[in-house]
Amino acid sequence: MPIAEPSKRLQQIPPYMFQELERRIAEKKAAGIDVISLGIGDPDQPTYPYIVAAMQKAVEDPATHQYPSNRGREDFRESFAGFYARRFGVEIDPANEVIPAIGAKECIYNLCNAFLDPGDVALASDPGYPVYTGGPLLHGATAELLPLLPEKGFAPDLAAISPEAAAKAKLIFINYPNNPTGAVVPEGFFEEVVAYAREHEILVVHDNAYSETTYDGYVAPSFLATPGAKEVGVEVFSLSKGYNMTGWRVAAILGNPDAIQSYWRLKTNVDSGLFEALQIAGAAALQGPPEPLTEMNATYARRRDLVVSALAAIGVDVTAPKGTIYIWAPVPAGHTSTSFAETVLEEAAVVVSPGSMYGPSGEGFFRISLTAPDERIEEAVERMRAHLA
Ligand SMILES: *Cc1c(COP(=O)(O)O)cnc(C)c1O
Repeated sequence: MPIAEPSKRLQQIPPYMFQELERRIAEKKAAGIDVISLGIGDPDQPTYPYIVAAMQKAVEDPATHQYPSNRGREDFRESFAGFYARRFGVEIDPANEVIPAIGAKECIYNLCNAFLDPGDVALASDPGYPVYTGGPLLHGATAELLPLLPEKGFAPDLAAISPEAAAKAKLIFINYPNNPTGAVVPEGFFEEVVAYAREHEILVVHDNAYSETTYDGYVAPSFLATPGAKEVGVEVFSLSKGYNMTGWRVAAILGNPDAIQSYWRLKTNVDSGLFEALQIAGAAALQGPPEPLTEMNATYARRRDLVVSALAAIGVDVTAPKGTIYIWAPVPAGHTSTSFAETVLEEAAVVVSPGSMYGPSGEGFFRISLTAPDERIEEAVERMRAHLA
């Protein structure tokens, strides 16, 4: 029996373009071939033990078992305020400049819900995290793509945004250290964004998923440390990647109190907040010792260097990124993003992501994720050397 049709908004989301690649991966696995996936960015290491211990204790307390509030626990908000002061030199008022989010993805999607009407525009980095474009479409708005230009350090050219798009824009999504390019924020770019947002009355949403995952002594700033940032923007800080907590769904939105108020008001109609035990564990994560993060970053840096030298051996030159868990590299001549990903799968049984997955400006690139155990990365780069060199 036919059921109701999905909404036009949902049908508008472009169909998944990489079914062919997925089909071939499944086929290889079914044939018993040992496929190594360097596609998805999901930390392979467990959550740090001190966070697991905090969660175990929190979940044993029945006081955490009831509906949480969307505003969040005071200790959660204070822990974020303390962390932002220590780590970024940013002052956050725990009373009205931070509330929990059920992951950055939820937060970005619901900011679209809270700020976009049909006809509105969201300015979205291209290539970029898919919810920057899917979120606006699912609310009847459109995403205006901002190509990230390699010659500008993978920053968009704000002066190239059309006056029409600028006039309709309510949100701009930026993200540094950047997924998928691995770029860190170019000098002066956050300041440019603040000026642009002020001029066009746009809310800046800085997706901060990777500030704690950096290498070679680079320390990533918070967008909120930029003068004037709190007047025009918010930052979404996720614990997923830096603390190996992707499954836990713990994040927070910080910054402009009016924007946070709107998000909060929307959320009271959508979900019932972040499980209090998770809030306690998230607060503990931010107050933990630095060693687990330092060791994790040393591990990623080691893997990164392995991948960069293997790519050099097959004729692909990349500069080692200073942050994120990704290597973003140009495909060899004669390939598209998809044809190269298919070739790597066929020849080496290694999965890499076609850059075009992240937007049209990703065409001509591929992304390798460093979230596989060392010996699997070693095996993958060995195979790439042997079969593609
Ligand atoms: C992984 C990732 C996220 C997801 O964060 P969650 O808190 O797990 O939802 C958001 N943005 C970017 C750029 C990411 O790479």
